[in-house]
Amino acid sequence: MLNIALFGPPGAGKGTQSEFLIKKYNLFYISTGDLLREEIANKTKLGLEAKSIIASGGLVSDEIIVQIIEKTITDNPDSNGFLFDGFPRTYIQAYILEGLMLKLNTSLNCLISINVNEEVSVSRLLNRGITSGRSDDNETVIRNRLKEYNDKTLPVLQFYKDKGVFFEVNGVKSIESVNLEIIDIINHELSKKLLNIVLFGYPGSGRGSQGKALAKAYGLEYVATGEMLDQEIKDKTGTGKRILDLYENGQLVPDEIVVHLIEKKLSSSKGVKGFIFKGFPRTLVQSYILDGLLKKHGSTISKIIEIEVPTLELIKRLDERSKTGNCMPYDTSTARIVQRLQEHESKTVPVIEKYNQLHGVSKIDGLGNFEEVFKRISFEIENGFKNLR
Ligand code: AMP
Repeated sequence: MLNIALFGPPGAGKGTQSEFLIKKYNLFYISTGDLLREEIANKTKLGLEAKSIIASGGLVSDEIIVQIIEKTITDNPDSNGFLFDGFPRTYIQAYILEGLMLKLNTSLNCLISINVNEEVSVSRLLNRGITSGRSDDNETVIRNRLKEYNDKTLPVLQFYKDKGVFFEVNGVKSIESVNLEIIDIINHELSKKLLNIVLFGYPGSGRGSQGKALAKAYGLEYVATGEMLDQEIKDKTGTGKRILDLYENGQLVPDEIVVHLIEKKLSSSKGVKGFIFKGFPRTLVQSYILDGLLKKHGSTISKIIEIEVPTLELIKRLDERSKTGNCMPYDTSTARIVQRLQEHESKTVPVIEKYNQLHGVSKIDGLGNFEEVFKRISFEIENGFKNLR
């Protein structure tokens, strides 16, 4: 996700710049001012409460803001990111935003302040008042809005300066040059972000071969826990011997071992553009582990993809594979194949469902030849990350 807040006094040009940015970065636009005006137009309880405050140029209570904004955010968890206009406007709202972002397992990437002085602000708003039809675009109210901005909103900047995500541009220049400056800031922030993809699918859906090819095409590190465990056995490491013991006794490999291996992989992969996870997370517990591991590296999941293949086709593919040189140790009998499909169904499908509710999962048709499926997944990745990297 890419989350941006545009900051600045009324009339700085936040709305104008937003229009460009939401298109360029495919973001969901949240203007608390627009949301409040909508509540007023619909004569809701919140709207009625807010009406006179807005008319006088004051700030609506944080209580009202949290209610209107929470619903909008939680209704759109699978968006590419959010662009906030006119929020956060108080120090308390900065904390509210932190909480909301945390709920979506994401964070604010940058807060960009568009600076204009008071007189520019007043003259622009008076000008806008001629056509906007907004009752708060008149001089007395404008002065009060600016006073509220200086008293309550400006202190918010310190919060973001402390977090290291504060940027500013001169808003008195032309719309185009302000736009270019903002894009520069965003692109610079994006280049620091890792692209982390989680690839799901039943055994036989092609996640392994697609995962490797995608990693190569996008310069990502391929993280496949099954293969990592096998490698430990082959390398005859201490962990490898423990894993072999567990395999031979028909036991599952505990999460501690897997966590340790992934941790090692994440910290040894310096300078990569991101990771593609295959075969992990397999359980709900592991999904929490992945969130924690990525968080530790200052990162989050960027995209979740599930390759869908009908069950009969899966069985056909796995059965065919069992007769070829690509046969995996766990593909050798029908009973084992069925067991693996069942494991996926009972343990991993709930993880995919959870992710689908939280972040949205892109479902890809896994039928057809390798190139066809690869093209579909690439399209999905590039579409989601259009201009994001
Ligand atoms: P705007 O459209 O952003 O200029 O907002 C118009 C008016 O809505 C403001 O003057 C405030 O009265 C109210 N408002 C908008 N956003 C907020 C917010 N985040 N917190 C408090 N009041 C707000």
